[in-house]
This record gives sequence, structure tokens and C-alpha cells, in this order.
Amino acid sequence: MISNELLPINVAGEWRLGGGDVYESLYPATGEPIARLKAASLADVEEAIERAHHAFKTSGWAQKLPHERASVLHRVAALIREQAEDLAQKQRLDNGKPINETRALVASAAGTFQFFAAALETLEDTITPSRGPFVTMSVHEPMGLVAAITPWNSPIASEAQKLAPALAAGNAVVVKPAEVTPLMALELARICEEAGVPLGLVSVLPGKGSVIGDAITKHPLVKRVSFTGGTTTGKHIAHIAADKMMPVSLELGGKSPTMVLEDADLDHAVAGVLYGIFSSSGESCIAGSRLFVARGIYDEFVTRLAEAAKLLRVGDPASERTQMGPLITAKHRESIERYVALGVSEGAHIRTGGVRPHGEGRDNGYFYTPTILEGLTNSARTTQEEIFGPVLVAMPFDSEEKLIEEANDSVYALAAGVWSRDFKRAWRLGRAVQAGTVWVNTYKQFSVSTPFGGWRDSGLGREKGREGIFQYMEQKSMYWGTNEQPLPWSK
Ligand code: NAD
Repeated sequence: MISNELLPINVAGEWRLGGGDVYESLYPATGEPIARLKAASLADVEEAIERAHHAFKTSGWAQKLPHERASVLHRVAALIREQAEDLAQKQRLDNGKPINETRALVASAAGTFQFFAAALETLEDTITPSRGPFVTMSVHEPMGLVAAITPWNSPIASEAQKLAPALAAGNAVVVKPAEVTPLMALELARICEEAGVPLGLVSVLPGKGSVIGDAITKHPLVKRVSFTGGTTTGKHIAHIAADKMMPVSLELGGKSPTMVLEDADLDHAVAGVLYGIFSSSGESCIAGSRLFVARGIYDEFVTRLAEAAKLLRVGDPASERTQMGPLITAKHRESIERYVALGVSEGAHIRTGGVRPHGEGRDNGYFYTPTILEGLTNSARTTQEEIFGPVLVAMPFDSEEKLIEEANDSVYALAAGVWSRDFKRAWRLGRAVQAGTVWVNTYKQFSVSTPFGGWRDSGLGREKGREGIFQYMEQKSMYWGTNEQPLPWSK
């Protein structure tokens, strides 16, 4: 247990018990509670938003020069690094990811603050080519109060990805973390406060998405929502945004294709495909969950993959040797089991996995074995729907034309992988596949300097990259008249 006390939430800088229900964070590896908090109520939402709006107008944050705001964000990065081990251990308890992974997420959160601090200091507004007796400029202004709504699968990293550019842009931010993983957002708010972000600019309002998230999204003082989560929720938010004429960015689901060609380096491809689907227990929007392998090497490749999947170390997230931890909740594991059963009813053969592992301290946690299904077509529901777990559907392909057609035959278009030694073919496929991110001879690697987002049902807008700050700003054009004469109107 991290604490026996009920944890406070953050209502525009005030740490206090929320007015909503008591939430327990359970350690997915054992099912035991590790923290309890009183979630936000609708009254807390209203108060946080009113006060954050006031803080935006009066704190002077938006008026600070870029290098002044940047120095505070650099301090946030430094504090995250100083407290990295403690944060990584808390996140392991909050969502059950293996410790090596939560350490990487904490490092990524620090890197994100550092990157956006640097981007902020070096960002340039533009003087555009003038077409008259005036100087024309394009500048950017902060929006005011913006909201960040995040899922449970990579807490500190996804929250930093929104908080850092939103604060860099000069805004106040209300964060609504996922119900089951509220701790990291609260930690980030504490660190922002410690680093010198003015009080009231950051709020963290844990609670039920359909109540608290919905109220935040609909609030007239909220000028933008940056959402990461499921496609159904994302579409709901997009409807609200349309009514308010509010910009949104939506980072949604995926069912990403990975393509292994005959000439691929099979050692690299086996390791990459395994990592692509089974790391994070497959609870990853970019999981490479549809595998297409050239028919000539299909049997050899899937045999090697299945052997390697059986050897993956599934277990205690506290151990540095663990590769796959538990799933987030018992309910989520049941949903994955239903998908595997659906796959079987659609004609799948379970090549490996498909069961709960037992023993070695895993009996009370929500563990599931890495699972490979064969014998399904690309149009099967199991192949098309996002399972969000360690389930890979493997299929052979015969021609490049058919491969591209099937890889693109999905409502999702978030990511894709190509494994080939032939760089011309890899280039052709990489350009032809429809996806926000394509990895060639690697998978699930990230750089905060490179934009990320999806097409179609995988989302709208991009996060990360220098331009990421502009997502949280309004663009303004300015015309400076330089003519010595009045406009001809007065003649
Ligand atoms: P979810 O959509 O159920 O919840 C995401 C967040 O939205 C949570 O904080 C939730 O409380 C909130 N929410 C729920 N209903 C809401 C409403 N009506 N109004 C406002 N907020 C609401 O998703 P999840 O189960 O937490 O996360 C899994 C999903 O997230 C998967 O589909 C996964 O692919 C996606 N995801 C996408 C990315 C990406 O970058 N594209 C990254 C991680 C996860």
C-alpha cells in the first residue's frame, strides 16, 4: 500500500479530498489495493475550471517570456529525473507494467518536458511575404484553459505529452486521468508546483469519464481538449467539440499491420514482431496486432515466433527480468478471453498462449499468456477489432498488391511495420501503407521530436514535434501598415 490515507486531488492548486466517490487503485499483479482517493465531483470540476481560468488571466504565466517559462519546464524535467525511481515504482503499482517499462516511461516524461522547454525557447513566429504596403506576420497566442484526458496504459508519458506543450504554450491545464490509474497525473501536478508553475494552472480531476471527463469537455471555459483513449469515446468528444466549435486532438485506437517480406532479417523481425505486440502486454495503441508474412517463409517465421513467445517471461512487474506484466484489470482480461474465444469460433487455431499462466505468484493477478492465432482472414472480427491485449493474428500473403490492400483494409490507421532488406521495396510499402507512423526494420520506437497521431478511426491531429506547441495555441495574423499615405477610402 502506497498510503492508508485517502489521497487528495488537485482542484486548481488546492490539494483536497474530492467530493466524488472513493476510488481504489489496485495492483494488477496481485489485485490488492495500493491507494485510495476521493474522486472529483461535478462541483469540483466547476470550481477547478473557474479558478484555473482566473489563474490563466492573473498569474502572469502566459505573459512570461518564452525562456522564462522554459526554465520552469526544465525544472519540471529535472525534478522528474531526481524522483525517477520513486515515480517508476508508483506507476508499476498503479498499472502493473514491468519496472523496466515504467522507468522508461518516467524518463520519457522528463524528456518530453525538456524537449518542449527547448522548443519553446527556440520557437519562431514568422514574417510572411508581404503583398502590399504592410509587414505581415503570423504569431501564436495561448488558448486559455485546455483539458488533457488520458487513458490508463502509459500514464506518466501520455500526461506529460499533453501537459508539457500545453504549459509551454502558456495555458492552464485540467488533467482527467483514467479511473484506474490516477496516481501519476497527481504526481506530475505536485512536481509542476514544486518547479514553480503558478498555483492554479494545473488541476488533476480523477473520476468517471462519462461524468467528469464529459463535464470538462462540455465546459464553455475549456478551449481545447487533447484526448487519448478509445475510438468510441473519441468520437463522442468530437461531437461535443463540433457543438462548441472547439479544436480537439484525438489519439485513438489501432489494429496495426506488420509486414514481413521474404528477404527480411529474420532474427531482427522475430524480435521486432514479438516486441511490437507483446510488450506492454499488448495494451498499446500501436501494438502490431495483425501480422502478414510472405508465404514462402510463413511456416518458418511463425514457428520461430511461437517458440520465442513461449519463452517470454510473464510475471512479477517488480522483477527486472520480467518482459510482460499483468493486464490492467480482471474485466479487461475477460474481454481479451472473449476475443480469443471469438477468434476460435471464427476458425482460428491457437498456435500458442490463449490461457492464464499459473504459479510463480501469478494466481491472483490478471496475467495472460502471449497468444498467436492462425487461420483467420483479414476480414474476421478478431482481425479487425482492437483487442488491446497480447493477441497476435498471423496471416500469410502472396503478392505485394494484395498485402497493401489487406494492410489498409481497416478502420484504423495508426501505425505499421515493414521488415525487409530491400530498401526500395520497403520504401514502396512504407509509402503505400496508410498509417500515422511507419517503422521500417524496427518497431515501437519513439522520439518526442517526431510527430505522432493517426488517420481515420485512429484519430485527428498530431502530438509531439516542435509543432506540438502550436496545437495549444491560436494562430493570429498581424498586418503592420507602413504606407505614408492614408488608405484610398478617405480620398
Ligand atoms: P477510454 O476511451 O475508455 O478512456 C480514456 C479516457 O477518457 C479516460 O480518462 C476516461 O475516463 C475518459 N472518458 C471516458 N468516457 C468519457 C467521456 N464520455 N467524456 C470524456 N472523457 C471520457 O480508453 P481506455 O480504455 O482508458 O484506453 C484504451 C484505449 O486508448 C485504446 O483504444 C487505445 O488504443 C487508446 N490509446 C490510444 C493512444 C494513441 O496515442 N493513439 C495511446 C494510448 C491508448
